[in-house]
Amino acid sequence: MKKEEQNKYMNMKNHKLNIWWIVIILVIMVIMSFIYIKNVNQLIYRHIYSNVKELSEQTATQLNLAIIDQERFVEIMVDSINRGYFKSAEDIFDRYRGDLGNYHFTRLVILDKNGNGTTSDGYTVKNYANIEEFFKQDEIYVSENRPSTVSNNQVNIYSKTFKLDGKERVLMATINTQDYKSILLRKLFGKGGTYLINNEGTVLIDSFGTIQEKNANIYKYIKDTYGLKDEEATKIDNMRESIKRNEVGTFDVKLGNEIYFIHYEKVNINDWYVITTAANSTIAEELIMLIIILQIVCLLITFTIISICVYINISNQKKNKKLYKIAYIDQITILGNEAYFKENGAIYLQNNNSKNKYVVSLDIDKFKALNNIYGYEFCNNILKIVGEKLENVLPPNSITCRISGDIFTAIFSYEKNIKNLLDKIYNQVSNIKINKTPMHLNLSIGLYKIKNGDTDINKILDKAYMARAKMKGLYDKNYYIFDTILENELVEEQKIEACMEEALKNEEFQIVYQPKVFTNTEKIAGAEALVRWNKDGKVISPGKFIPLFEKNKFIIKLDLYIFEHVCKDLKLWKEKYNYVPNVSINVSKAHFAQKNFIEDYVKITNKYNIDRKDIDLEITESATIDENIDVLQILNKIKEKGFTISIDDFGTGYSSLSMLQSMPIDIIKIDKVFVDKANLKSDKNIIDYIMLIANHLGVKTIVEGVETKEQVEFIKKIKCDIIQGYYYSKPISKEEFEEYFNTNR
Ligand code: C2E
Ligand code: CA
Ligand code: CA
Repeated sequence: MKKEEQNKYMNMKNHKLNIWWIVIILVIMVIMSFIYIKNVNQLIYRHIYSNVKELSEQTATQLNLAIIDQERFVEIMVDSINRGYFKSAEDIFDRYRGDLGNYHFTRLVILDKNGNGTTSDGYTVKNYANIEEFFKQDEIYVSENRPSTVSNNQVNIYSKTFKLDGKERVLMATINTQDYKSILLRKLFGKGGTYLINNEGTVLIDSFGTIQEKNANIYKYIKDTYGLKDEEATKIDNMRESIKRNEVGTFDVKLGNEIYFIHYEKVNINDWYVITTAANSTIAEELIMLIIILQIVCLLITFTIISICVYINISNQKKNKKLYKIAYIDQITILGNEAYFKENGAIYLQNNNSKNKYVVSLDIDKFKALNNIYGYEFCNNILKIVGEKLENVLPPNSITCRISGDIFTAIFSYEKNIKNLLDKIYNQVSNIKINKTPMHLNLSIGLYKIKNGDTDINKILDKAYMARAKMKGLYDKNYYIFDTILENELVEEQKIEACMEEALKNEEFQIVYQPKVFTNTEKIAGAEALVRWNKDGKVISPGKFIPLFEKNKFIIKLDLYIFEHVCKDLKLWKEKYNYVPNVSINVSKAHFAQKNFIEDYVKITNKYNIDRKDIDLEITESATIDENIDVLQILNKIKEKGFTISIDDFGTGYSSLSMLQSMPIDIIKIDKVFVDKANLKSDKNIIDYIMLIANHLGVKTIVEGVETKEQVEFIKKIKCDIIQGYYYSKPISKEEFEEYFNTNR
């Protein structure tokens, strides 16, 4: 897996998360803003509505009160005339001229039935038009707008009739229509206005002071000015009808580009109405600041929340990246590890429809030896290069991983000749250059072609591994492809697995003892306990089942079983012959790596009352170079409990001298291959070097697999302490061994 790919994979996961968060927040914010703006709009609407209504009501009330005040003034004057306080019109004018200003009147006029008379400001009036209109009224009367007879102004006249010298007269107080404005009609709302109309709709006064001059009709005026049609025009008509019915009301209507709020209110004088209009925008201006502030606050909150989310996401991303790296990435090669392979391999299986899917697995032969010779840093470089080369030679869609140690595995599809690809892998990966120095690696390459029904990635891996394992020792091949031979082996293994538990219960596993003799005296030195499986009358040798049991961990049970039976035998021999031979018992790698295996052994020895120095535990050299366990601690514990320790198959595991020096071991058990390979005439064999090491460490030596007289002579010459091999005895049954030690003690 390339670094960018790895990052892409990470980012994809996190971006999805990020985007979801932000989308959720934005949706919430949009909904909130929507609700908010809707609420504010409603608020503004209600606010303007009530404002306009209130203003209209106030105006009407004020106007009403002012007019009533003016009427009362007129009535007071008439009342005092009727009481006979005044002799002539002049007397009356003299008395009240000074008060006129307080009531916004400009002049007083007294006329007779023909419309002739005088004014308080010195005019003479003749044949006043429509004089009957005023004599018709019994009560105080307020006229609508009419042109002044003495000036160009529009005026309104307050009148009441009375009798002076037995003649009917009318007293008129005149107000310039314009002057109502200063008393009552304040222009409040920018584009809005206030109108005083009669119930025909004729504008008596307007706050602009322009319409009343023309005696305009308010309904027509509004409709014409704004070119209202349809719904909007109907609203105006509705107002007209409503006013005719003497009602009050408020509504909104679109005039031009603006929404206006209109309220109409009765004045209670002459069916007059006050109409107040206000433009939405003008009033909204008051609230716009509030809205802007709130919107900024909303934006800030959104921004803060998004920032927090992004921050949390970024730090999560970092954390995830770290976790992901630990969990899935091999730090040396930057390839995926075993967990990565299994997870993504399974996905690959599901998603890739190619008929030619493969799993290839390769390892570097004797990599541990390379580690000891060249050191970790150098060998890490080898791993890195091998990883890169393998990834490059495979098709681009492959998943290439380092599963563990020096094992690389890849899953891929390939439509061309697979054997050519395998040759290419072998040639490219086995020849590498480190620091410009060419180096040849011996590779074991195993391939499994994935079948249609294969869904279990673990089983697929096992098959590729089996093919790879099969290649060990086949020096004429570059790779091994999983075939029917392996398939049969697999079937065999499955059969064994199916019956192993049962076999243990049925005591099908039996112990044989192979004697060990002292090199110089040829007397018995002890024996190695070896297991045999007695299945349906046939004896199966451990080579057939031990590797499988190591793999499926059943060996742990079997080791304990063997250990207990050996203890039983030792107890028996002690009682029977008062003799206890030293017995070596094999401890499997899997069992050795189990934390508390030694406690179990101690319990068993206690149970059978066995002296632990009579038991030697054989631990293979390869088990002692496991980096995942604290080997020294386990070995020390074994020693502490009193067992002796042999390093089995010594020379095949490439343990380092420094490690050996620190390990509390008693015996080095030299593997059969070194006897077989030895040139018995020479003194430059590996076995000579092993003897040197053993002497240097001060530990005893035993050679196994000694078959011939010549070999025995050779062993004697190199002064190895103990011999085990067919030359003296094959592994024999318990009874045969009893006989052996009784004659060879
Ligand atoms: P090992 O521990 O190296 O055991 C020695 C093997 O070499 C035994 O094979 C023994 O029969 C064989 N051998 C001894 N002398 C000669 C000889 O002169 N010539 C030849 N050709 N072979 C000789 P065996 O019994 O088949 O055991 C094979 C391996 O199985 C053992 O190798 C050991 O690793 C494992 N094993 C056997 N029994 C047990 C057991 O009880 N527990 C565990 N964990 N492993 C066992
Ligand atoms: Ca052994
Ligand atoms: Ca051995």
